[in-house]
Amino acid sequence: MTFDELRHGFGGEIVEAGAAEYDAAGKTPFRVGKPAGVLRPQSVADVQAVVRFAADTGLPLAVRGGGHAFAGFGTNDGGVVLDLSELADVELLEAGRVRIGGGATWGQVADALAPHGLAISSGDTRSVGVGGLTLSGGIGWKVRKYGLALDQLVAAEVVTADSDVLQTSADEHPELFWGLRGGGGNFGVVTAFEFAAHETTQVFHGKLAFPATEALEVLQGWAEYLRTAPAELTAIANFANPFLGGPNAPVEIQLTFDGDDAAAAAAAIDPIRSLGTVIADDVALMPYAGVLVEGQTPPPGIQLVTRSAFAEKESVSEVLRILAETGTTAGSPIISVRSVGGAVARVAADATAYPYRQAELMFVTTTIGPPPVIAAARFGLDALWERLAPHSTGAYANFLASATEADVAAVYPAQTYHRLAALKHDYDPGNLFRGNHNVPPQQLPSAE
Ligand SMILES: Cc1cc2nc3c(=O)[nH]c(=O)nc-3n(C[C@H](O)[C@H](O)[C@H](O)COP(=O)(O)OP(=O)(O)OC[C@H]3O[C@@H](n4cnc5c(N)ncnc54)[C@H](O)[C@@H]3O)c2cc1C
Repeated sequence: MTFDELRHGFGGEIVEAGAAEYDAAGKTPFRVGKPAGVLRPQSVADVQAVVRFAADTGLPLAVRGGGHAFAGFGTNDGGVVLDLSELADVELLEAGRVRIGGGATWGQVADALAPHGLAISSGDTRSVGVGGLTLSGGIGWKVRKYGLALDQLVAAEVVTADSDVLQTSADEHPELFWGLRGGGGNFGVVTAFEFAAHETTQVFHGKLAFPATEALEVLQGWAEYLRTAPAELTAIANFANPFLGGPNAPVEIQLTFDGDDAAAAAAAIDPIRSLGTVIADDVALMPYAGVLVEGQTPPPGIQLVTRSAFAEKESVSEVLRILAETGTTAGSPIISVRSVGGAVARVAADATAYPYRQAELMFVTTTIGPPPVIAAARFGLDALWERLAPHSTGAYANFLASATEADVAAVYPAQTYHRLAALKHDYDPGNLFRGNHNVPPQQLPSAE
């Protein structure tokens, strides 16, 4: 089959090499791709046609939601890119349910829900896709109160590898619905997500900055306080940012208090203010949609390498000690530590395919620069992660710039991995959907 043949009956756009728009259509913020074609379906039937086309031609398939995967999953070389950006409707159903097209971004969702006083806890950035973020987790500004984005998912419409359209939920194809909540893009193209939204008021949001010299005490005190802090409070500690002074950069605790009661917000935030010398404080009341920032695309030639892991209670202190020490030395990567816990921890580890429910923190290192800078930083970065390894748990798929077998093994502990592999065997035995943290299909040994 050729693109010209696919064009018959295909309602969307097909961008091939040579088209004026090709270079822009082929790339994502983190990867310059040279696909054979970028296909932009307008309907579920179009998505089915593209899945059939990829299966028939054997061309590699990249499914693109918001295109923000650090590993560049949203494009490829020589294959087909299924760009879902035209399927971005946000439709309010009854009882706070929201149906969202598989290619919508969280900015589109926040804008559509704001006039109704509703929100879905998602991430921190407008341009990030609902698809990728939800299918692997979703750690956002209301995570301690409402859980991960995937915890708010109640149903999903999926085009599977044999181009069937399945409605999935706790009642329909429940095992597939389990795998979609954490198993990434392994199981098909989600053409629509249905979430349970919650009512939202304005929220308190902003940054408290402390001097780098106080990093260790502030981080340790912050992590300790989070164990008893109200679930309305979610916070991220960022430090060692080279654009703010590298080893001398302030420790910034960026936070959201989910509510508009000033006294309750102050009671929740003041214990963090008292952890050290506050050198900047811009916490203010704002609409929830205003909390999400625009994503920044690295300039051409600049690479960005992210690595991530979780810290459970017994390791928090040692992980923070290593990170604080590293952050105040020259050449440190940017370090970001996110609070999880709260509602995330109240879900059983095997209830979804996101396993690290008991983690208190998720931390990320980010190295930015042209390829020689990235190469030069590699040794120090490997050494840091070797020091962290005995104390850290797993990895968070959404903050990994690579997709090696070791990465996949870190994202999915053995039990989750085997269950996903068996599910993959049932729904995608030919591994059509492999442009992701791939779990290849595996038949479960028979019970006999
Ligand atoms: C600036 C920035 C800020 C971020 N902030 C946060 C944050 O606050 N919290 C957080 O948890 N993560 C965050 N992330 C990480 C983010 O969750 C991941 O990068 C995620 O993969 C992005 O999803 P996407 O749809 O934009 O990406 P894509 O590259 O389009 O997709 C990622 C993966 O999901 C698959 N996929 C996407 N949509 C679908 C679909 N509809 N059906 C089937 N498969 C699909 C793709 O095939 C690919 O494998 C951030 C990333 C960036 C770059």
